[in-house]
Amino acid sequence: MDRRRISILGVTGSIGANTVDVIETLGVEQFETVAVTGHANIAALADAAQRLNAEIAVTADPGRLDALREALAGTGIEAAAGPDALIEAAQRPIDWIMSAIVGAAGLRPTLAAVRQGATIALANKECLVAAGSVFLAEIERHGARLLPVDSEHNAIFQLVAHETTPIERLLLTASGGPFRTWSMEQMAAASPKQAVAHPNWSMGARISIDSASMFNKALEMVEAGHLFDISPKNLEVVVHPQSIIHSMVGYGDGSILAHLGPSDMRVAIGYALAWPERPDLPVDRLDFADLARLDFEAPDEVRFPPLRLAREAMEAGGLAACHMNAAHEIALDGFISGQIGFLDMARLVEDTVASLDCGPDAETIDVVFEADATARRVARQWIETRAA
Ligand code: NDP
Ligand code: MG
Repeated sequence: MDRRRISILGVTGSIGANTVDVIETLGVEQFETVAVTGHANIAALADAAQRLNAEIAVTADPGRLDALREALAGTGIEAAAGPDALIEAAQRPIDWIMSAIVGAAGLRPTLAAVRQGATIALANKECLVAAGSVFLAEIERHGARLLPVDSEHNAIFQLVAHETTPIERLLLTASGGPFRTWSMEQMAAASPKQAVAHPNWSMGARISIDSASMFNKALEMVEAGHLFDISPKNLEVVVHPQSIIHSMVGYGDGSILAHLGPSDMRVAIGYALAWPERPDLPVDRLDFADLARLDFEAPDEVRFPPLRLAREAMEAGGLAACHMNAAHEIALDGFISGQIGFLDMARLVEDTVASLDCGPDAETIDVVFEADATARRVARQWIETRAA
């Protein structure tokens, strides 16, 4: 069999590093790595490019091209930089691509890979939250295949693989994050350092903070709605602090199927890489006597309003989730830079979404980019008004 041609968008991040790890476990020689991309971390980008013997390494930041060239000098690996170079790299013919850039910045390069009909291992949930039905229509039009990597969605994808009966309900599990038991007063004063400290998963800084606010679960609700064609009334979030059950699917006969495994993203990444087979992976095996118990609780939508915001955005349809995603990215920037407090993030997103007309579903990707830009502008104004 020919070696599969693969690329990795966001190779320098947490998902990117885990993807490199899985590839090395399965054998670098099994794959022909075409492109790897990063942004600020040039040392990690050059290191990944060399470990995978990639054709080209691209940083999204044009100001870092010289540093990348220097880091790759003598390796024979091409270096490029900037948003257009990112898209050009994603257009290079491949069979499989990992989409693991964080935020809506991942949408254009992922679409470039979709348009060549590749298999898309999708970690970047923002593609589906911001562009939803337009993104899925592009997948369909170009004969691309979508394999969800987000652990909950990967779990559900595994659970429904052999089922022909319609799903009655989806239960997305949530760890509850580091502030699960915190009071509103404590949360109002929370620092980025406290928010980033996830109890179970080791992830990038932004998604870790999103786990603390439950914005991550909010984005995942919209993501699940698109991936599994589920309306918000059939979608539940259940807090499960141990992060052992990665999600559940309920059917009309009362059966609930659950996917269990270690809290290790290599499981979902490996499944997407080896699909339709399962790879052997050196991850921890569950010991049930050691675990002893699994706990569940209802999410608190007063302390964690993003869950309500997601449901409202799904019910509103149109561009509401796109506005929510864009406003959330600005809110997160504002929290990380100390301009707004932890609980302000949800207030900012709610006000931004409420002030914009969600309209009908977008029919083109340009409409999505416009809506994204508008919501970012409104959200930035919200922060400026408060700072003034
Ligand atoms: P990280 O922050 O660890 O990595 C993000 C990656 O995107 C890095 O390669 C970063 O480059 C790159 N990047 C950042 N900004 C830009 C930009 N403007 N243009 C192009 N590239 C950019 O994120 P994660 O790996 O944690 O998450 C990646 C995606 O996967 C997110 O959408 C997240 O929601 C999703 N996901 C992550 C999980 C996890 O366990 N981490 C679990 C499920 C989903 P650099 O570091 O060089 O600056
Ligand atoms: Mg997840």
